[in-house]
Amino acid sequence: EREGIASPKRTKEIIDKHRFSFKKSLGQNFLIDQNILGKIVDAAGLDPSKGALEIGPGIGALTEKLALNAGEVAAIEIDRRLIPILKDVLGPYGNVTVREADVLKVDLKALFDEVFVRSEKVSVVANLPYYVTTPILMKLLEEKLPLENIVVMIQKEVAERMSASPGGKEYGSLSIAVQYYSETELVCIVPRTVFIPQPNVESAVIRLKVREKPPVEVADEEHFFTLVQASFTQRRKTIANNLRARYFSQEGRERMEGLLQEAGIEPSRRAETLSMEEYARLSGIFLREGI
Ligand code: SAM
Repeated sequence: EREGIASPKRTKEIIDKHRFSFKKSLGQNFLIDQNILGKIVDAAGLDPSKGALEIGPGIGALTEKLALNAGEVAAIEIDRRLIPILKDVLGPYGNVTVREADVLKVDLKALFDEVFVRSEKVSVVANLPYYVTTPILMKLLEEKLPLENIVVMIQKEVAERMSASPGGKEYGSLSIAVQYYSETELVCIVPRTVFIPQPNVESAVIRLKVREKPPVEVADEEHFFTLVQASFTQRRKTIANNLRARYFSQEGRERMEGLLQEAGIEPSRRAETLSMEEYARLSGIFLREGI
């Protein structure tokens, strides 16, 4: 049997054969470690009844593992130069669809209808381009696709922010946005040495188990997320000061403090100490007041 694509030797062979040169602007850091690939694929819990969507297949190191472990596989790659390489290396696998597109622009619902015909559940599995991690994950979560989980390699700091709990300096609007849609779990920390070229930052694999329904009740999601963002505008300021700048005039101060008290939130607290539950309650009260 042939070595997997993700060995340093085969990666080099493929790159030389196609005279491929890495584009830093597209976040191209390819995985060359079978062990890490195994951990990523295991974390998704795939089997032949399930589908897998990969974003940014590169030269197909992870795609190959997905083809061997899932039923139907779709891979979206923005770099046109990689498409013939993927056709070449993934030739032996009949269950992979490669699509040349920018994941942020592609109609994912249409792609799902087209590719995942037999799959009961779909996982997103990817070593993401770090320059667009957050927009990609928010798109996947907000579009409410039929996803079971999302297992992705991302920058370690971003993984920590996504999985942070209230009280720490990593906790912010990103933690709340991601945790509203999913349960987060850190799978492993990954050193730079398993990539070529090596990135400037440390990486981590994170698993997002997509929730069937949010953990808090929110009447208007847009209002809720706007309120959360406004609360974190200046992290050193109190929640009262941040909200005043966004929603109230100087004269409205007493009214706002009254509403915070009604929600059980001391106006002198900082945004990073509030739970998602507290933000949801406050959003409900503001909405009721037409704020
Ligand atoms: N999956 C491969 C691996 O693990 O070795 C490559 C991962 S590399 C970190 C990220 C890949 O995402 C690159 O192949 C890059 O060209 C692709 N990419 C970057 N931006 C993209 C976008 N907006 N849409 C789709 N693919 C993108």
